[in-house]
Amino acid sequence: MVPVIALVGRPNVGKSTLFNRLTRSRDALVADFAGLTRDRKYGEARWQGRNYIVIDTGGISGDEEGIDAKMAEQSLLAIEEADIVLFLVDARAGLTAADQMIAEHLRKRNKTSFLVANKIDTIDPDVARAEFAPVGMGELQPIAAAHGRGVNNLLEAVLGHIEVPEVVVVEGEEGEEDQLARAEAEAKASREEHGIKIAIIGRPNVGKSTLVNRMLGEERVVVFDQAGTTRDSVYIPFERNEERYTLIDTAGVRRRGKVFEAVEKFSVVKTLQAIQDCNVVIFVMDASEGIVEQDLHLLGFVLETGRSLVIALNKWDGLEDSHKQYVKTELERRLMFVNFSDIHFISALHGSNVGNLYGSVRQAYESATRRYPTNKLTQILEDAVQVHQPPLVNGRRIKLRYAHLGGVNPPILVIHGNQVDAVPRSYTRYLENTYRRVLKLIGTPIRIEYKGSD
Ligand code: GDP
Ligand code: GDP
Repeated sequence: MVPVIALVGRPNVGKSTLFNRLTRSRDALVADFAGLTRDRKYGEARWQGRNYIVIDTGGISGDEEGIDAKMAEQSLLAIEEADIVLFLVDARAGLTAADQMIAEHLRKRNKTSFLVANKIDTIDPDVARAEFAPVGMGELQPIAAAHGRGVNNLLEAVLGHIEVPEVVVVEGEEGEEDQLARAEAEAKASREEHGIKIAIIGRPNVGKSTLVNRMLGEERVVVFDQAGTTRDSVYIPFERNEERYTLIDTAGVRRRGKVFEAVEKFSVVKTLQAIQDCNVVIFVMDASEGIVEQDLHLLGFVLETGRSLVIALNKWDGLEDSHKQYVKTELERRLMFVNFSDIHFISALHGSNVGNLYGSVRQAYESATRRYPTNKLTQILEDAVQVHQPPLVNGRRIKLRYAHLGGVNPPILVIHGNQVDAVPRSYTRYLENTYRRVLKLIGTPIRIEYKGSD
């Protein structure tokens, strides 16, 4: 399971700065789901082949009232959700009573915590070590989040001891072939162990548990009992028409006798972990409500992780024709960015169209994991360039020479050439569309990466 790291500390110690550095350009998922409060930000990050999830919080100031009390509450919830807490203090400001209070709380909760002194660019690290020694939380990790100093050492201390599967460990600089070999080995090993891993994702009340029940309750499905569930999502292996799958259930459905019953509420962390760990997301929306902002936000996050995607418009039963038409127009208007995915109009409650999801899941998985030889990818590139040349930059034409596969699930197409930094976004989109059409890639996003030779 992908580890979860919470950033905790007083306001202004540099939590957001560190969050942004760890998650880079990736979009944060702000937890503004119905029934959940707003102040926690979730982001996905990666360090040396290890994925992890970062939670940022408003901060705990120690004299909470009003909005501050809310922020403190969010911090406490983030601590509960996390495997590891990075407790940030401000090296410039020195030790405060609020810091002591937070340390006390962490000790009581018995959480794996690291004491991190930020803004070390402003003060001698040894002075900071002496200053914060009374906190009594082990070795101080000095960083300057704004400049990146010390961040790698910090991650080494935090994530270095976390075990990752054999195939994922790559020493030093990763060659291009290693990267592909690793991705393929990972996909193959996972397929052998779990079949295709499917995550049912969507905001609260769209019908995820109902869908999980329906899928598992089907006659043609054989569900294997899974011993020992954890606080994490439940992994349910099953077989249908001789194809193996594992359902990663975020809705917290548990088997009670013959039925599967939801026992837990929506959790952002579980949702993000499931997205990270699956091959294909079945993204569920509530057709009776139409498409709402939260759907788009969550969907954007799925896209960001590169998972394959099948869209299910649930509660299609009993809708007026005019409403159905409205939903279809909305889909065309607002879901253009995932127009590579199959869309199914289903009723999890009555079971209509649910069986059709499997065909799309398999197709998406195959598209995402197939091997595409270098000569074929290069041929497609050459043809695309011939039809529509890349632009001139400073009087010189951008040259794109050859392409090879750099990863699977999602497929990464690595294109080599000159002046590749200047390739406009629109041209990359053109190439993406061309590859998608020629290779018949359905249900998976594609990543295009450039490698320059000058
Ligand atoms: P948060 O409230 O804990 O999320 O803190 P922010 O990330 O918003 O940072 C608070 C202030 O500290 C901002 O003005 C940052 O620019 C500044 N800051 C953050 N990291 C560093 C650092 O490494 N060095 C210095 N000198 N300032 C920093
Ligand atoms: P979750 O929070 O996403 O797991 O949603 P649930 O599966 O708990 O469903 C929320 C509500 O929607 C329940 O009252 C379900 O009975 C109802 N529901 C789920 N699927 C359908 C459907 O296909 N049609 C209709 N009409 N209601 C549904």
